[in-house]
Amino acid sequence: MSPRPRPGILDIKAYAGGGAGIEGRGRVIRLASNENPLGASRKAVAAYQGLAGDLHRYPDGGAHELRAAIAAMHNLPAGQIVCGAGSDELISLLVRGYAGPGDAVLYSAHGFLMYAIAAKAAGATPVAAPERDLTADVDALLAHANARTRLVFLANPNNPTGSYLPVAELQRLRDGLPAGAILVIDAAYAEYVRREDYEAGSRLVDAGDNTVMLRTFSKVHGLAALRLGWGYFPPAIADVLNRTRGPFNVAAAALAAGAAAIQDRGFIERSADENAAVMGDFAARLRDLGYAPCPSVGNFLLLPFPQDDPARGADAALAHLKARGILVRAMGDYGLGHCLRISIGTAEEMQAVAEALTEFAG
Ligand code: PLP
Repeated sequence: MSPRPRPGILDIKAYAGGGAGIEGRGRVIRLASNENPLGASRKAVAAYQGLAGDLHRYPDGGAHELRAAIAAMHNLPAGQIVCGAGSDELISLLVRGYAGPGDAVLYSAHGFLMYAIAAKAAGATPVAAPERDLTADVDALLAHANARTRLVFLANPNNPTGSYLPVAELQRLRDGLPAGAILVIDAAYAEYVRREDYEAGSRLVDAGDNTVMLRTFSKVHGLAALRLGWGYFPPAIADVLNRTRGPFNVAAAALAAGAAAIQDRGFIERSADENAAVMGDFAARLRDLGYAPCPSVGNFLLLPFPQDDPARGADAALAHLKARGILVRAMGDYGLGHCLRISIGTAEEMQAVAEALTEFAG
């Protein structure tokens, strides 16, 4: 008999990334992975380059310098910060540490795909709660939580919808969860949000022992290539992650670049300002064309297309954009096959998208 993986593993549909190129095209406008169109902080790039002579050395397995920099910038205790090879790794470590066969991992219906993948990989059961108006619904999440629920994942803001929950709703969700369930607030896009009632989540972490906050260097910091994320955890959960992670799970180049990036407030602010301005203009262009982009507080827009006319639908739009060298994200895997998700690029890139969609809609 051939070797067989554990139950659940072959139910996983492998995560398909946004892609990098289009066959036969040299220059491609990449708007499929919510990356920072400005690149990375020059200070982070210099720190990365500065490591070239030390590639034979293992990295600092405790990420001391990086955690100290994060702690200083966010006013958090460094001992409760754990870094990972992308926040994806932290998602997997959390699920592996707290859920297994017979346990449930809860998330909202159009939440980030990795939550269900990590649940299945651990042999746990993924459970999706319905949303309301493409926004996580706290009542539905609470109605789907029970004694088997070990983790509740909430991307806030959510990818791919761009919607968010105000901090009062997060609090209500946390307060209503069964004892023993962990609320995971995945704040990958926190730096982009400009809403008075939004908080990334560190105060909720401080207020108990069952809430964690995840962050990434892949979005506003522009370091997606290096695979770097971090989280803020109650001490007992940080301890579990430190026992189960690889001893050198974050590469030295990521540690060095991340520490420089998190201190470059100017670059972070410039990136968020630019995103807000370009997204505002682009959304207005789309509305002029008769589209209704979903309101977004992130660095991407979810754009619904007509479902009754295939020639004007999302698949046709995806192909039209691709033929013009523009890569955006199909949304079938998120149960939103009538939509495309378009990352916000530079003003010139969004001008090219707007022109291509004008042609498509006309
Ligand atoms: N969480 C959310 C909501 C995301 O959208 C993404 C990436 O798209 C991630 C986590 C993963 O980020 P990382 O690159 O840190 O693994």
